[in-house]
Amino acid sequence: MKNIVLFGPPGAGKGTQAEVLKTKYNLVHISTGDVFRFNIKNATELGVLAKSYIDKGHLVPDEVTIKMLNAEVEKNPEANGFIFDGFPRTSAQAEALDTLLESKSTNVSGMVALEVDDEILVERLLERGKTSGRADDADESVIRNRIKVYYAETAILKDYYKQDDKFFGIDGVGSIDEITDRISSVMNSL
Ligand code: AMP
Repeated sequence: MKNIVLFGPPGAGKGTQAEVLKTKYNLVHISTGDVFRFNIKNATELGVLAKSYIDKGHLVPDEVTIKMLNAEVEKNPEANGFIFDGFPRTSAQAEALDTLLESKSTNVSGMVALEVDDEILVERLLERGKTSGRADDADESVIRNRIKVYYAETAILKDYYKQDDKFFGIDGVGSIDEITDRISSVMNSL
């Protein structure tokens, strides 16, 4: 099984690349942000809870997020592997993912991190906000808060995966095809 953690700050292009890579490598793509947004749209109990955090650019609590991710993985018993997009975002989530994959006799193959300059991220997200309908993309202060949360709470995960030589930084600036090629050369080596 190939299990990839697609990493990077908001606006780095994780969702775009995941869409291409899931077909190319026959993997199941799980975006925790997409699952939350689906639940918000359908006004589920999870959606109502998640919305209160997401709209402010805060992280949804670990307990809720981990339970949801486990359920998404369990829905795909035949998967050839997974692309985790937007998960893990905290050490507790990274540990929970290891435990879950271990129970399936597999592990994280590698973390692929898209690296993009902050000001380019803000520009990209404001542009996306014009059409995405996402409240968290429409407001520059929420965008900057999400980037801040990434550095404060999420970026430490680089070290978590570096310990096992599983961290791969990728230049996230360029055309979609160029970036897919860069990621593919890492994925082919895993
Ligand atoms: P994303 O689509 O990955 O940018 O996620 C949008 C928002 O959903 C984030 O700003 C968080 O509020 C929430 N979210 C998504 N994934 C996670 C996660 N792994 N842990 C906590 N909150 C998350």
